[in-house]
Amino acid sequence: MDDQSIVISVKNLNKDFDGVEVLRDINIDILSGTTTCILGPSGSGKSTFLRCLNWLEHPSSGEIRIDGVVIGQSSKKANGKRASSRALNKVRTNICMVFQHFALWPHLTVLENVTIAPINVLGRSKIEAEQMGKTLLKRVGLEDKLHVYPHTLSGGQKQRVAISRALAMEPKVLLFDEPTSALDPEMVNEVLSVMRELAKDGMTMVVVTHEMNFASDVADSIVFMDRGLIREVSPPEVFFNNPQTERARQFIAPGC
Ligand code: ADP
Ligand code: MG
Repeated sequence: MDDQSIVISVKNLNKDFDGVEVLRDINIDILSGTTTCILGPSGSGKSTFLRCLNWLEHPSSGEIRIDGVVIGQSSKKANGKRASSRALNKVRTNICMVFQHFALWPHLTVLENVTIAPINVLGRSKIEAEQMGKTLLKRVGLEDKLHVYPHTLSGGQKQRVAISRALAMEPKVLLFDEPTSALDPEMVNEVLSVMRELAKDGMTMVVVTHEMNFASDVADSIVFMDRGLIREVSPPEVFFNNPQTERARQFIAPGC
């Protein structure tokens, strides 16, 4: 693999909250067009890691590069190429997050939820943003919901709006933090099937999930985290059939 295909490069990333270490020496490269699933027990640092990638949390030390541009770096090791704050904002809009609880704007219609950031952040015209929003919402089967408010939607529909909203920013990478954990079981598949399509279309995705079947079928790479450490990075067929650590073995087959 040449460097060109590395979209996110994380080196020696550490994060503590008031002295409590939550991420410890995280090193990983995310390659363009791949789906990476992050698995691990609750409290292992998965959300904090994702939040560091789009700068919702600031690392305590270490370096994050997006397309080769440093976005997160400790003051101790300022030896990389530093981006101007404008360039930083651009880099960060290249990485969008889909949250467990959707985080839609309740006072905006479905279409407005999808168009507001392209208009305000990317400077798109209203017409252009609406055209794209309609296309995206059609793609996730919500073309008949353009003008309703989020509270009238099911959880699965809300999450599909949230995915469209993220896609409207034309991001290089989509981050998902347990996107189906808040959904009733019958709605999980409608969201996962949208994500499967995105993976097939070559979207670069980093997905924190407990959906083992999805991870096994769709992921190019499984990252297993435990207590702030990356314990294993393996292709799914290795991870699920022959995990490299005892902790991962217990995680996959508890009680065995
Ligand atoms: P996961 O997503 O794997 O469940 P998190 O990243 O949410 O794990 O949390 C990892 C650890 O960091 C937990 O012990 C959690 O309590 C702690 N933590 C997360 N966010 C904060 C915060 N804002 N302030 C203090 N501690 C936090
Ligand atoms: Mg979490």
